[in-house]
Amino acid sequence: MNQPVIGVLPLVDIARESYWMLPGYMLALSQAGALPLMLPLEMDPPSLERALALCDGFLLTGGQDVDPARYGAAKSSRCGEISSGRDALEAALIDRALQERKALFGICRGIQMLNVALGGTLYQDLPSEYASNVNHSVTGRPWDRVAHRVELVGASPLHQLLGVQTLGVNSRHHQAVKDLAPGLEVMAISEDGLVEAVRLPGAAFVWAVQWHPEYSYPTDAASRKLFAAFVQAAAAGSRR
Ligand code: MN
Repeated sequence: MNQPVIGVLPLVDIARESYWMLPGYMLALSQAGALPLMLPLEMDPPSLERALALCDGFLLTGGQDVDPARYGAAKSSRCGEISSGRDALEAALIDRALQERKALFGICRGIQMLNVALGGTLYQDLPSEYASNVNHSVTGRPWDRVAHRVELVGASPLHQLLGVQTLGVNSRHHQAVKDLAPGLEVMAISEDGLVEAVRLPGAAFVWAVQWHPEYSYPTDAASRKLFAAFVQAAAAGSRR
């Protein structure tokens, strides 16, 4: 089997005018058998096509809030920092990757971008828009500690993969899925009712989670299984 190549979307530090990367994204993919390559956020259409041809799958990483203009909402004063250029590149990439039946895995902002790219909406500021006792935005180390539980939807592929009914997950998100995009299917719901994992049925592996397996993979077998399933799907696609 050829080692699958995973294009990894970089994070952006606007104040430092920098791209950056958490090693966990890269290391979790490497340990699952992939070669992760960090992509640029500025690609003209021919370069985007070249990236699509080179990569067997794409990892949508965490980061800034998604610009509410992407889903036709006015920006709330409580919406966090946005990165419009990143939003635009990721939306274009998601579009083309789905057409090419590439494997896609979204983490945190990644589930939010996938939902918005497919026509869904987001809570712009969870604490003020979604009353709950659950803290979804834990601050401070260790980042792998369990913040809340999620219920896996019975018979979903996530349930089949992990073989458990509920899962303890870490949580560090300011926004979340509000209206689910047409076509997406929920695979996990937090104990206070938020969408925490989705997939696009009928596609190649197109999954996304609201928690952070890139922090928990060293200590958590479920996180490793997620990366393994993604990398295996990317490898299977590369053999087509
Ligand atoms: Mn959460």
